[in-house]
Amino acid sequence: FGGSEPISEATIFPSLPPLYFGHPEVHLRNGIINASRLANDGEIDAEKAFFVADLSQVFRQHQRWLACLPEITPFYAVKCNPDPYVLRLLAALGAGFDCASNGEISQVLSIGGIDPSRIIFANPCKANSFIRNAGRLGVDTMTFDNIDELYKVARTHPRAKLVVRILTDDTKSLCQLGLKYGAPLVTVPGLLAKAKELQLDVIGVSFHVGSGCYDPTVYSDAISRARSVFDMANDAGFSFTLLDVGGGFEDALFEQAAAVLTDAIQQHFPDRRNIKVIAEPGRFYVSKAFSLAANIIARRAPFPDTSTTEYTTTLSDHPSVMYYINDGVYGAFNCILFDHQVAHPYVLSMDGSFHVPSSEPVCLSSVWGPTCDSIDCVCPKTELPRGLRVGDWLGFDNMGAYTVCAASQFNGFEVSKVVYTLGGGASAAEMHNKLIAFAAEAGLL
Ligand code: PLP
Repeated sequence: FGGSEPISEATIFPSLPPLYFGHPEVHLRNGIINASRLANDGEIDAEKAFFVADLSQVFRQHQRWLACLPEITPFYAVKCNPDPYVLRLLAALGAGFDCASNGEISQVLSIGGIDPSRIIFANPCKANSFIRNAGRLGVDTMTFDNIDELYKVARTHPRAKLVVRILTDDTKSLCQLGLKYGAPLVTVPGLLAKAKELQLDVIGVSFHVGSGCYDPTVYSDAISRARSVFDMANDAGFSFTLLDVGGGFEDALFEQAAAVLTDAIQQHFPDRRNIKVIAEPGRFYVSKAFSLAANIIARRAPFPDTSTTEYTTTLSDHPSVMYYINDGVYGAFNCILFDHQVAHPYVLSMDGSFHVPSSEPVCLSSVWGPTCDSIDCVCPKTELPRGLRVGDWLGFDNMGAYTVCAASQFNGFEVSKVVYTLGGGASAAEMHNKLIAFAAEAGLL
């Protein structure tokens, strides 16, 4: 492999754009070359920003999951990145899906060959019509954390298999979800009693330690809380069969989180013969799989403006150059506002060359998005080569989680498109073979 030849889409997934073998870096560069060719041909907007999605990275994360958490079935959190290729890949690999809306449920089911039992409707506060629709589609497993939800379910989908979402410590996470969801343990007996009274079936417990969890030891306390809810359920006349350990898995801390979870589950649930354990990982699967290439569309000096066009100010405390690129916080970089991320630009190409000598002098710069809003700042301070000009390209890694899914078209700017690659080397070959086998088995081919 290593070339950039598209392989036939039909070999893996029907009706999707071509996949490429070869390293994503190659495709970032290919995209730039194609863009500049189009520009030379006079095509409008040829400098458009674009993502490169390396599906072999998603595949590798799944292998990592299976190696570290073989007993826990991942139900991928669709909200994190509902890319159709990612969903099809994970479907073919046997994952389940955490959906939060009618739209996500339809998208997953439209893949074909997915039994509705592979979906958990993991939104504890749903509209009546959404619950009814889930019931109509056979999506029975759904979370709740309040009494009103039980009344709604009793009315609209009485056969539902309910999962009580409990509150756990989320103070060690980038995004704390406990502000909005999760029943405190003291309220759980009341919820279970009401469910019994309404003749509803509660089958298990779920929690979420918060998205982007940087202290995996919190999983241990969460599991012990889940254990006490299993015991409360016994007292209320339910026999729980589902333990859902939620999301929050960070790439760099995954092995540590897996070890904490494995130990805690073994300690609190030593007999798991009648218990299915699932999780709802989102960013773990996709964060590293997507990179973004963005074009420098404008450049200026910060105030006070200088008369020079060369921007040669040396390093000081303040950025001496402002670069404007063609994606920003209203687009892919909404993760800066919504997901507490920090963007780290690097130079993809400069003056048509992919090689930036390490001796190239740098200066403090700021990077801005294309919209007319001053909140649209991608990076307030970073060192970039002094010679960067309009038309050069910047790259951004780790752009797969909570980016493209929440991008808007504010000010008339399009959402950046995705180019797909199967990555290079042995893992691409292995994935290719596995996928064909899985896809054939699932009836996708
Ligand atoms: N499950 C639920 C209910 C969520 O709200 C989220 C994220 O907000 C996730 C799973 C995915 O979390 P993460 O991307 O941190 O794994």
